[in-house]
Amino acid sequence: MADSLLGPAEIRDLAARLGVAPTKKLGQNFLHDPNTIRRIVTAAQLRPDDVALEVGPGLGSLTLGLVGAVRHVHAVEIDPTLAAALPETVAVPHLSVHLADALRVTGDRFDPAPTMLVANLPYNVAVPVVLHLLAQLPTLRGGLVMVQKEVADRLTAGPGSKVYGVPSVKLAWYAEAKPAGKVPPAVFWPVPNVDSGLVFFARREPPAAGVARADVFAVVDAAFAQRRKTLRAALAGWAGGPDRAETVLRAAGVSPQARGESLTVGEFAAIAAEAKLSGY
Ligand code: SAM
Repeated sequence: MADSLLGPAEIRDLAARLGVAPTKKLGQNFLHDPNTIRRIVTAAQLRPDDVALEVGPGLGSLTLGLVGAVRHVHAVEIDPTLAAALPETVAVPHLSVHLADALRVTGDRFDPAPTMLVANLPYNVAVPVVLHLLAQLPTLRGGLVMVQKEVADRLTAGPGSKVYGVPSVKLAWYAEAKPAGKVPPAVFWPVPNVDSGLVFFARREPPAAGVARADVFAVVDAAFAQRRKTLRAALAGWAGGPDRAETVLRAAGVSPQARGESLTVGEFAAIAAEAKLSGY
């Protein structure tokens, strides 16, 4: 790892020199704590031959940690001032800077192909960014992301948990996720008013073959849109009536009286597969 990680004085000087005034809209809270950077890089379990994809490099705090740990880093930054300054702060040949919106990038722009997502994500778009990148980049074998603590809890929750919901199930479609620690507000500038959490995830085979992801996600969205209702009621609109919903649920081996919050991603996939077979 580079021994020149950025501390509070460097971050302040860099921001002043570039005229950067952090914006809430882009979730700009910059890390100024080398210990947290080392923690993130270690928790990511990177291999020297990995290709890291970093979303939102900002002033380069985490990027400096990553370039010492992997063979290439792709940094995707939406802010033109930050993207333009990055090659100066992180002056190594194995860094590619992409001025782009991470929600719109596709796999063809990255060479070499990314294998790990490692990012202190902009909090307002964290979940859509992770899901978008897992869908677009099949070469990603996993990742380590920092998100708002509440979001970290949701992403890593399992069936039966109060915070289990759409993000938990959709991430579980792609990967196995687990919490990797909490990060206090004091390590950021500006200081956010929430705690942050680290989430580690490792890609796995989708839990069901022969059923389209979009069909499974449609069931998940319908089930959690009315999470207090039984699945028979919550899926009525999706199936074309409560009786049809009940037929599909029974065929999938799921109780019509159950609620979405108790189902695994595999059970959601079974419901989608049965609906397809029944022509719903
Ligand atoms: N990685 C830096 C760090 O840890 O100090 C900055 C992290 S900051 C939480 C989030 C960064 O994401 C900012 O640099 C912001 O400009 C960038 N960003 C926000 N929305 C983005 C998007 N849709 N695509 C790419 N970058 C984005």
